[in-house]
This record gives sequence, structure tokens and C-alpha cells, in this order.
Amino acid sequence: MTKRFKVVFDRERCKGCELCRSFCPKQIIAMDTQVNAKGYCPAMITDQDACIGCQSCATVCPDCAIEIYQLEEGEQA
Ligand code: SF4
Ligand code: SF4
Repeated sequence: MTKRFKVVFDRERCKGCELCRSFCPKQIIAMDTQVNAKGYCPAMITDQDACIGCQSCATVCPDCAIEIYQLEEGEQA
């Protein structure tokens, strides 16, 4: 069975530094066009199903704004 993951961004914690986007090997992180309360364009996932759960994004985030969960079989992202 292929493992599936869900990536959750805390958009209010994000300061839009784009580090996570740079480090994602699957290039599935983009910056939102809508700003958060601090005025930053926060990171978001563009293709949840393509995530391999490598945790690179969460590891490099200086603001601990990313959490990654492994989904159970049949669970929706
Ligand atoms: S866990 Fe890895 S593949 Fe998934 S979004 Fe983060 S950096 Fe990309
Ligand atoms: S690394 Fe963290 S603070 Fe920087 S853009 Fe990504 S989620 Fe936002």
C-alpha cells in the first residue's frame, strides 16, 4: 500500500520566506496570493496527493508553521 500524507500549513504563523517551497523535492508548495493577518503571502500545498512525506518543508521552516500527517487507508486529505 502506498503511504499518503497530509501537509498542514499554519497560514497565520507563516512569514512567506519561501524556504519550504525551495526545499520541496516534489515542487508542490506555492505561495498564496491572499495575504495573512501579518501581510505575508503564506505557503500552501498545490498537490496534496504528490507529497512523499519527506518532512523537508517542516524541517526547514523557521517558524514551525508546517505539520505533516500520515493518512490511514481510505482517509481523505
Ligand atoms: S513533506 Fe516533502 S514532499 Fe511533502 S510537501 Fe513537504 S517537502 Fe514536499
Ligand atoms: S518555511 Fe515556514 S515561514 Fe517560510 S514560507 Fe514556508 S511555511 Fe512559511
